[in-house]
Amino acid sequence: MKLGFNEATALGCAGQSLERDLELCEKYGFDYIELRGDCLRRYLEHHTLTELAGWFRSHRLKPWAYNTLEYFNQRDAAGREEIDRHLDFIARVCDAIDMHLLITVPTFGLDRPLTIGQIRDEAAERLGQMADRMAPCGVRISLEFCGVPACSINQFGTACDVVRACGRDNVGITLDTFHFHAMASRWEDLEAADPKKIFAYHLNDSEDLPIGAPYLLDDKRLWPEEGCVDHGRICGILNRIGFDGVCTIEEFRPAYYALPHEENVAQAYARTRAFVDKYYGASR
Ligand code: ZN
Repeated sequence: MKLGFNEATALGCAGQSLERDLELCEKYGFDYIELRGDCLRRYLEHHTLTELAGWFRSHRLKPWAYNTLEYFNQRDAAGREEIDRHLDFIARVCDAIDMHLLITVPTFGLDRPLTIGQIRDEAAERLGQMADRMAPCGVRISLEFCGVPACSINQFGTACDVVRACGRDNVGITLDTFHFHAMASRWEDLEAADPKKIFAYHLNDSEDLPIGAPYLLDDKRLWPEEGCVDHGRICGILNRIGFDGVCTIEEFRPAYYALPHEENVAQAYARTRAFVDKYYGASR
């Protein structure tokens, strides 16, 4: 299991930037970084993709995924065009820096009472179009369901059904442990998952709040094993089904943003390292 850092973890720290995230992730030993689109766009105001590619070529740290292409499904024609323009930008980024994964998030707050089946079919078709657009540049798309009542795809099992219905080799799923907990995704769905279809694994924990509470949001994330997420059970299943990949820490907690940037990244590394060693073995 490799170790990843998602830029959301330090996003609100004073002085945070993509450049500093890169330096600190390299210094503390992460294998991969998940780039945020907003951080990348700020970087590109003063730098080029060629410079970024040069940085990765001369360091051990490598880029893992682009976060996030938001709200891909149930869009009108103008919305789909906006998504396609964003895809073209992501394709240029991925090609320049040798990155091969894009994470996409479903639309929130649908204004019609669509059934899960209707949502699944439309999302699968749209993801298929997006995947075909990205296939020539070797980019895979990972669907990240969000454990929020208003999210159109909010459970692990539904997301797996979308990916299955899509039927593309380059479409898979993101397992974010906060999101898995926050809408009570089913254990049997995780047990039935194809490990090769889990493209991204986001590590965190959650305050123990009622499932579906309007305040059970990203800011209630905690460092792994400081909350109520049953990591022992998740990791037991992932080991049993044979998952191996990149375990990427992803926090959004204001208290962690109050830490000095370097302290945030140092803690993120220490906690991810300890977690992976405990559940997946130090030798992997
Ligand atoms: Zn996530």
